[in-house]
Amino acid sequence: MTKYIFVTGGVTSSLGKGIISASLAKLLQARGFTVTIQKFDPYINVDPGTLNPYEHGECYVTDDGAETDLDLGHYERFLNTPTSQANNVTTGRIYQTVINKEREGAYLGKTVQVVPHITDEIKRRMMLLGDQGNFDIIITEIGGTVGDIESLPYIEAVRQIKWELGSSTCLVIHLTLIPYLKAAKELKTKPTQHSVKELLELGVQPDILVCRTEYPLNAELRRKVALFCNVTTNAVVESIDADSIYDVPLLMLKEKLDKTVMGKLKLISKEEPHLEKWKEFLGKLKNPTSEVRIGLVGKYVELQDAYKSILESFIHAGAYNETKVNIDFIPAEHVSDLNVQHLLGKLDGVLVAPGFGERGFEGKLAAIKYVREYNIPFFGICLGMQACVVEFARNVLGWKEANTTECNPNTPYPVIDLMEEQKKITAKGATMRLGSYNCHIKKNSKSYAAYNNTDITERHRHRWEMNNKYVADFENAGLMMVGTNTESGLVEIVELKKHPYFIGVQFHPELKSTVDNPHPLFMRFILAAKEHKQKALNGSNNRTENVSVYS
Ligand code: GLN
Repeated sequence: MTKYIFVTGGVTSSLGKGIISASLAKLLQARGFTVTIQKFDPYINVDPGTLNPYEHGECYVTDDGAETDLDLGHYERFLNTPTSQANNVTTGRIYQTVINKEREGAYLGKTVQVVPHITDEIKRRMMLLGDQGNFDIIITEIGGTVGDIESLPYIEAVRQIKWELGSSTCLVIHLTLIPYLKAAKELKTKPTQHSVKELLELGVQPDILVCRTEYPLNAELRRKVALFCNVTTNAVVESIDADSIYDVPLLMLKEKLDKTVMGKLKLISKEEPHLEKWKEFLGKLKNPTSEVRIGLVGKYVELQDAYKSILESFIHAGAYNETKVNIDFIPAEHVSDLNVQHLLGKLDGVLVAPGFGERGFEGKLAAIKYVREYNIPFFGICLGMQACVVEFARNVLGWKEANTTECNPNTPYPVIDLMEEQKKITAKGATMRLGSYNCHIKKNSKSYAAYNNTDITERHRHRWEMNNKYVADFENAGLMMVGTNTESGLVEIVELKKHPYFIGVQFHPELKSTVDNPHPLFMRFILAAKEHKQKALNGSNNRTENVSVYS
C-alpha cells in the first residue's frame, strides 16, 4: 500500500522544501523503497513554461515534455529517476480541468465550488501516481507558505487525505525557521509555534517539524518545540545550514528523519541506507585536486536560479573529475569585441547559455568568436548552439548579415530558422519542441567520444533550428553536424573540426545530469578546460588556424 508524505512550509519562503523532500526521498530510496516526489504550486499559470526566469528561476523539462518548476530538477538529480507531467501541478491546471469539466456539463447542474470541486481535483491529482501502484512512497511538496490565501485549498486537500487514510498511511512534515536573535544571543521558537498554530487552524496537525537553523538545536529547545507544537520529541528535526545541498541527505540521516518517518508510517526496512556512491561523490566534491574557471555567458546571470541545472551539472561533472569548477557569470549584453579579451582571456572554458530573444545575442556572438579563434574550450547550449552557428556564418563563411530569424526575421541568411511546424503557432504555452528526442551521433566526433554511444536521447525546449539548407556550406568550412535526429533530419549537435573542444547542442544536456550519472558532455568539457589550463601554464596556447579568413 502506497504511503503519502506531505511537505508544507511555514514562517518564510525559500527554506528549502524541495531539498528536504529530495533528501528524505533519497534516504528512503537508499533503504530500498520506491519513491517519487511531486510538487503542487499555488500560482494560476497552467505551468511555469510562460514565466520569465526572473520570476521562479529556470523552467525544468521532463522526458515527456512537461515544463515544470526547478525543484523537479532537484528530485531527479537526487533520486536519479525521471519525473513526468504528473509530478508538477499548478492551481491554473486544477482550475482549467474543473472549468473544462463544467463546460462539458460534468457537474450535472450543481454549483461548482472550491470545496468540494477544486479540492477534489487536487486530491485526485495528489493520489494519481500512487494509484498507478509503482511507488511505495509518494512525497508531495506544497509550494508557497502556510497562511497564503492561494495555498488554502491545498491544505484542505491534505487535511481530507490525512483523515481518509489515517496516520499510518499519511503524514505531514512542516518545514519552519528557528531564527537566531543576535542581540538576545538566542534561538527563537515563537515563529514556529505560530506557523504550526496556523496549520492547526486549518485542521492539520503536522507530524514532524523540520527546523531550519543557523545554529544547532539543543535538547531543551527541541523539547520546547515538541511540547508547544504537539509532536513527539524525535519529530523535531534540525536542518542546519549546509555548505552544499548534497550534504542535506546525510544531515537528515544523522537526525534520523528517515527512521522517524518509517516509525510513524509503519514502514519496515532491515537495511541501513546504501549511500556509498553518494558519499564517494561528496568526498570528491569536497577534496578537489585541481580547479578550473569557466565563464557562463548568459542573459539572466543576475539570478543564478535561472541556470540551476547547468550549475548543478558543473558540480556533478567537477566532482567526478575531482576538479573545483569556479563560475564567472558574464552578462551577455556586456560582451563586445572591445572587451572580450579582458572578460574571457583568462578563462579555461566558456559556456554560452540557453535563452530567448534578442537581448545579449550580439554579446554571445562576440564571446564565441573569441573562444573559437583562441582555442578556448566552448560549450553552447540551445540558443548558445544557435549563436555559434550564426557566428560561424558571419565570420568564417563571410555572410555578414547571417542571423537567427528570432533576432532578425528579414536576414538574407536565416541560418537558424523557425521549424516548419512552429510557423503557424501563435499560442505561447506548451507549444515549443519539448521533451525527449533521439539523436544519432557520428563516430568520428568528440561527442561520440564523450557519450561512447552513437544513439542517445536528450531533452528539448526551443522553437528555432539549424536551417538544413546551409549544412553543406558549414561542413565544407569546418563546422560539422555530428548529431542529428534521424526521423526529422534536424541538427542536434555541431562541432568545430579544428578546435580542442567546441561543441554546440540544440538540446539541454543539463536536464539529465544527476549525482549518480554526471553528464558526459559536461565531464568532457571540464577535462578540456583542465587541458587548456595546463597548456596556458606551459605557455603553448596561441591563436591558431581558427582565425577567421575574413576579419
Ligand atoms: N530561443 C531559442 C529557441 O526558441 C533557444 C531556446 C533555448 O535556448 N532554450 O529556439
